[in-house]
Amino acid sequence: MARYTGPVCRLCRRQGEKLMLKGERCATPKCVLERKQKPSRQRQRSRPKKMSEYGIRLMEKQKAKHIYGILERQLSRHFAEAERVPGLAGENLLRILEMRLDNVVYRLGFAESRRQARQLVRHGHLTLNGRKTDIPSCMVKPGDVIAWMTSKQALIPYQAALQDIGSRHIPGWLSVDDKSLTAKVLTLPSREDIGVTINERLIVEYYSR
Ligand code: SF4
Repeated sequence: MARYTGPVCRLCRRQGEKLMLKGERCATPKCVLERKQKPSRQRQRSRPKKMSEYGIRLMEKQKAKHIYGILERQLSRHFAEAERVPGLAGENLLRILEMRLDNVVYRLGFAESRRQARQLVRHGHLTLNGRKTDIPSCMVKPGDVIAWMTSKQALIPYQAALQDIGSRHIPGWLSVDDKSLTAKVLTLPSREDIGVTINERLIVEYYSR
């Protein structure tokens, strides 16, 4: 499945907020949004533009796309699925995004960013229920077991994950064994577990227009 391959900091600048797309680098002064940008005289004089209702909803939808690293077709497919299952469509959508294999690998602390997690999956570093899986959009479910391929355990990504695992926060719906880096999906994530600063109601309104 295709993905955005351009500069990710541009996406944050466009959104006007930190989307944390580059892992640890985002928390350092190297982040472009941390650097003070002096507005030009012309900008200081011009009034801030007022955004339309449609624009606000569009921005929120774009934000979800950028955070989870997916394109429009995938997001609308996930939204169609979210509307089909019982419950609130907005919460269902976030839950579906959260249950993607690339996101779970990121949440487990195996990668610094969702981008890196996606690459780990694509390059076949991981197994799902004992089978090699290289599809980042693959959906996990409670009871699934995610582990590293034995042949990849001498490589840097596994060694780095093993070293950092103690310092990473693992959400309550996942569990991971610190020694073998074998993880299990315990339950479906709640809205509190997901924790991303996305207003899902605006996304529902965007797609329901
Ligand atoms: Fe966004 Fe991270 Fe780039 Fe900062 S460093 S602009 S948070 S991607």
